[in-house]
Amino acid sequence: MSARILVVDDIAANVKLLEAKLAAEYFDVVTAQNGPEAIAICERGDADIVLLDVMMPGMNGFDVCRRLKSTPATAHIPVVMVTALDQPRDRLQGLDAGADDFLTKPLDDVALFARVRSLARLKTVTDELRSRAVASTRLGIADPLAAAAAEDGLNGRLLLVEDRPTVIERLQSALSAFHQVDVEGDAQHALLRAGEGSFDSVIISLDLEGQDGLRLCSQLRSLQATRNVPVLLMGETEDRARILRGLEIGAHDFLMRPVDRNELLARVRTQVRRKRFTERLRDSVQSSMEMAVMDQLTGLHNRRFMDNRLAAMFDESALRARSLSVLMLDVDHFKAVNDSWGHDAGDEVLREFADRVRACTRGIDLVARVGGEEIVVLLPDTGRDAAYHVAERIREKVESQPFAIQNRTRDIKVTVSVGVAHRRAGDLSSADMMKRADDALYRAKAGGRNRVIVASAA
Ligand code: GH3
Ligand code: MG
Ligand code: MG
Repeated sequence: MSARILVVDDIAANVKLLEAKLAAEYFDVVTAQNGPEAIAICERGDADIVLLDVMMPGMNGFDVCRRLKSTPATAHIPVVMVTALDQPRDRLQGLDAGADDFLTKPLDDVALFARVRSLARLKTVTDELRSRAVASTRLGIADPLAAAAAEDGLNGRLLLVEDRPTVIERLQSALSAFHQVDVEGDAQHALLRAGEGSFDSVIISLDLEGQDGLRLCSQLRSLQATRNVPVLLMGETEDRARILRGLEIGAHDFLMRPVDRNELLARVRTQVRRKRFTERLRDSVQSSMEMAVMDQLTGLHNRRFMDNRLAAMFDESALRARSLSVLMLDVDHFKAVNDSWGHDAGDEVLREFADRVRACTRGIDLVARVGGEEIVVLLPDTGRDAAYHVAERIREKVESQPFAIQNRTRDIKVTVSVGVAHRRAGDLSSADMMKRADDALYRAKAGGRNRVIVASAA
């Protein structure tokens, strides 16, 4: 997988060295020698991952990182801080500034490429989500990116997979101050629990007695229910090779024992934040997709959705020589409801009307609100007579029970007129059938309303 890496360092030789290493591994490389330049590149959308030097004159790496992470347009770009010395304080400060990871100079090639690849993989997913979320903003939905970027990463639900009581106690006491921690000593049980619970992160020991933490890691990655949960590995210095293997199979991060309390907290927080960031984007994509096809007042499908599906349902029924019918429903004298009782009462009637129509239809029928007080029902595999019976049932259900309005303090009588048509062998398109239903509805209105008219059979 290729990605465009932005290397930021004030010393030209450092930039050159990293550029050469990355280019040899077929990454695209862009470079910057100071903070403002780096930020500008990120804002233009020209970087997939940032490798950021800490010590720079003017704006240092922490400031740059904080800026990137607090700006909705750049908050999703993974930032790896590159620290000159193995300074635990620098690492913490970096993670606190929102960095996704850090590496220490001199750079270890294997660790560098493993991290960059794992972040590139993650970036591909977030990019896809972001572009859909941005599309939803155009549909008039509150900015999901800003909300996602504001996530603080605290109060997470964590699953700690560790079987040594003293270690459990130490980690738990550190984490519990900020998160809710479940502990599991058995890898198979941990997998089940992770599948059931909605954890923000799973922390796996690589030193479990008689069990392989890496296997658990790969199982978590391959199950649908746990695929998006960040995994943090914990190992001894001599577990290095296995940790790198873990990063390759999808672990997000690792900690070396003895685990430093502050580093643990900072890394866990980053994982929780990252998980929720993508989760929020996913949710907003989901709800914007729903909004695009649903009518907000009644929860029925909307006109756009019906228009999209109508042609396909029509063609399908023609192709398979199956029947297809349509009901066109329109509330009688609905304007008078609004005029007499107010617009809110009108809305109450429309919701109740939608519920009654829904109650008379099957799951495979398509019920859509196509206008103010107009509903269209498409009935697959339903002939003319059966369609008439459904229409009559709806008409009866509307007339027989008054509609409650003004929070159920009052009842009013409502009736509905229905035009029914079915697909005829000679129809060229769905428009022919819809036109007959519309004409039938018109005749129902003209004939005195509160009635069902069926278009002729041929
Ligand atoms: P007819 O029996 O001929 O169908 O008469 P009608 O009054 O039902 O038909 P008309 O099309 O003249 O009026 C429909 C009214 O529905 C007009 C409009 O103000 C109202 N309306 C449209 N959308 C909504 C809505 O979302 N809520 C409410 N309360 N009223 C709506
Ligand atoms: Mg009407
Ligand atoms: Mg109308």
